[in-house]
Amino acid sequence: PNQPLDAQRLWRQDKDHFIHPFTDFSVFHEKGCELITDSEGVFVSDIHGNRFIDGIAGLWCVNVGHGRSEIGQAMADQATRMAYFSTFNNLSNAPAAALAAKLAELAPAHLNHVFYTCGGSTANDATIRLVHYYFNRLGKPTKKRILSRRNAYHGTTYLSASLTGIESNNWEFDTLDHLVTHVSEANLYRRPEGMSEDAYCDHLVKEFEDTIASIGADNIAAFIAEPIMGAGGVLVAPDGYHARMQAVCRANDILYIADEVVTGFGRLGHFFSSEAVFDTQPDIINVAKGLSSGYAPLGATLISDKLYEVLGTPQGKGGVLSTGFTYSGHPVSCAAALKNIEILERENICANVRQVGPYLEQALKSLSHHATVGDVRGSHFMMCIENVADKATKELLPLEARVGDRVAFEAQKRGLIIRPVGHLNVVSPPLIWTRETIDTAVAILDEALAATT
Ligand code: PLP
Repeated sequence: PNQPLDAQRLWRQDKDHFIHPFTDFSVFHEKGCELITDSEGVFVSDIHGNRFIDGIAGLWCVNVGHGRSEIGQAMADQATRMAYFSTFNNLSNAPAAALAAKLAELAPAHLNHVFYTCGGSTANDATIRLVHYYFNRLGKPTKKRILSRRNAYHGTTYLSASLTGIESNNWEFDTLDHLVTHVSEANLYRRPEGMSEDAYCDHLVKEFEDTIASIGADNIAAFIAEPIMGAGGVLVAPDGYHARMQAVCRANDILYIADEVVTGFGRLGHFFSSEAVFDTQPDIINVAKGLSSGYAPLGATLISDKLYEVLGTPQGKGGVLSTGFTYSGHPVSCAAALKNIEILERENICANVRQVGPYLEQALKSLSHHATVGDVRGSHFMMCIENVADKATKELLPLEARVGDRVAFEAQKRGLIIRPVGHLNVVSPPLIWTRETIDTAVAILDEALAATT
């Protein structure tokens, strides 16, 4: 059994010293933290012994569920055998080598080269550096600008925060505006009144083409997009949107980067969704989160053969590809990822998501009758409820109403953790949720919404 923990002392230590990410200090100073101390399967428990269904897979990442002792064992074995050594130059380690080959096997056929990072932000950040390096080496040094989308979330390193298009995320922060231009996101729920889905798609593609024309393709290096926009509101684009955006990129010598940090590793029923679901062949796919199911920090950027032909060519004059992290290819993280992938394959977890995902979608849609539920959207194990003041006008409640927080609070009181994001509530559970778990979770959400309205 685990050692007992001193709840009061830890709460105090946390409150006095831990600067939490993405935290509202008006609430934090009053309430302090909630310590989550234990987890098993689809459940987590707080320090007081209250148990909750995990409706957010930690933070869209614990895809195989909690308490997988075989992942813990694989990490312990690796840490004991060789916890860390450099991967710079030509040094390597066994898990990093094996995982790179495994990722190349699972990824679309043309993506066979892996650059390791510490998480999703660093994957996106490293990618942009590699893309700039690629065009510099091709003798196209003006191709610098990155096109991203409003409401995209790509992380919070300086560069990935600049790619991020959620305005409130960069409130009072600076961004590298000379490097990034944002185009409109695809938001079917809030598209112009009366516009068909097809016409909306045409409109977005046209805006993209116009943006490229005004900046000049010679000045643009890449376009980055999440296959389904996650933190920006679980926005599923119109049919064919991604393939058309990719075609525009190809026609303009602009690289297409898919940020699959959330959509990868089973959340939509496939290891990678770009090709399997969205019919795109990105030049680069970035992954993190579900890659190690959150058991250890890890990200990776998967690079096409075409790019590797340039990135992997000797620089001459003694130059090297001078980018990477101390922890690129960390052996313990890679060992966790290898075991995680073994579990995903052995338990056929992608198939579970494909079978049970539509049931989750339908069950959540049954909540649409609540007065504040304007939209229920998403796909498979990546879902979201948009709360509104008025369903007909889609008008939002004022921010101070904290509707997302209130729904999440009511749900947590009843034993379910979901994620509030402004007026949204995200449901992104571990991929091992069964129909029974869904029934229990949705019944709790039903009560929580009733208690909020
Ligand atoms: N990209 C996407 C699509 C994400 O959702 C996230 C995190 O939520 C990131 C990148 C950043 O990943 P990390 O927090 O591991 O740096």
